[in-house]
Amino acid sequence: RPSVLEVNGLTTQFSNRQNRAVTVVDGVDFTVKKGETLGIVGESGCGKSVTSLSIMRLLGKNGKVSGSVRFEGQETLHLSEADMRKLRGNRMAMIFQEPMTSLNPVLTIGRQIGEVLHLHTSLGPEARKQRVIELLTLVGIPRAKDIYAEYPHRLSGGMRQRVMIAMAMACQPQLLIADEPTTALDVTIQAQMLGLIREMRDNTGMSVMLITHDLGVVAEMCDRVLVMYAGQVIESADVRTLLRAPKHPYTMGLIRSVPHRATGVKRLYAIPGNVPSPGEWPQGCRFAPRCSEAMPICQQQSPSLLKMADGSECRCWLHAPDAGTEGSERT
Ligand code: SF4
Ligand code: MG
Repeated sequence: RPSVLEVNGLTTQFSNRQNRAVTVVDGVDFTVKKGETLGIVGESGCGKSVTSLSIMRLLGKNGKVSGSVRFEGQETLHLSEADMRKLRGNRMAMIFQEPMTSLNPVLTIGRQIGEVLHLHTSLGPEARKQRVIELLTLVGIPRAKDIYAEYPHRLSGGMRQRVMIAMAMACQPQLLIADEPTTALDVTIQAQMLGLIREMRDNTGMSVMLITHDLGVVAEMCDRVLVMYAGQVIESADVRTLLRAPKHPYTMGLIRSVPHRATGVKRLYAIPGNVPSPGEWPQGCRFAPRCSEAMPICQQQSPSLLKMADGSECRCWLHAPDAGTEGSERT
């Protein structure tokens, strides 16, 4: 399958109050293929959202992005803001955890979805209105004609989420980036939203980049998964391999700490400690302070992301063939 998005060496820095550059995303590489759903997982503060905002170029002036982002074969990091605006909401769209961040409270639903169509298509006013009603119906909104004239705050959270998805789907994007789209929702609505995103994906052949801390969501939605920790990819694998045979102690910890939904058993395990803040990443393996497997080399040398026999990738000395034998002499 051809790739829709190719990200290489993506690095994002912010300047802090002392005007010092702090790295938040540190050399991330991945591709998203046509029609595939790539999950990006990790605890909050690992750089997942900043990765997606960097790709969409929605970071604001303070964020500096380097590396390469090729979308449909075109390098986008150096596009002008005007050219970027032609892609955003059109060829690539994004949905967020909180719909109110993408919905304008003072515009009716019809007006704001209509504006996306106005910006990116040549449809006239009447055709736009028809299309908006069609989109609202498509995402399962009952009485779409009435909702057309409503303001966002008049809708329930679940309905707002549907509106946000309708808006993202307005121009049939090739890539949908969904950042924790169901985190704030109750279990039933969450399942409906995931079903809706899946349906949209399967009907249109678009690719999805799904950012989540929820491995249950990953299991249900994703083809491949990247696990991020402290700004880096620490493991990547197809979803079955990742869930059945995780390699990195961090991934294992994430899997162990999934609460058992079916049985109602509360979380049995939590990874000790916290994600280190950007600017405070330890030297060596960034997970070492929390890792029960840590060896002397782990505090000294950064492991690189290595290809495993089963096709997955893992950044951990446990999986480096000659780890520990050369100690600190290793380069
Ligand atoms: Fe743990 Fe060492 Fe692997 Fe890091 S490199 S995850 S500290 S075993
Ligand atoms: Mg986030």
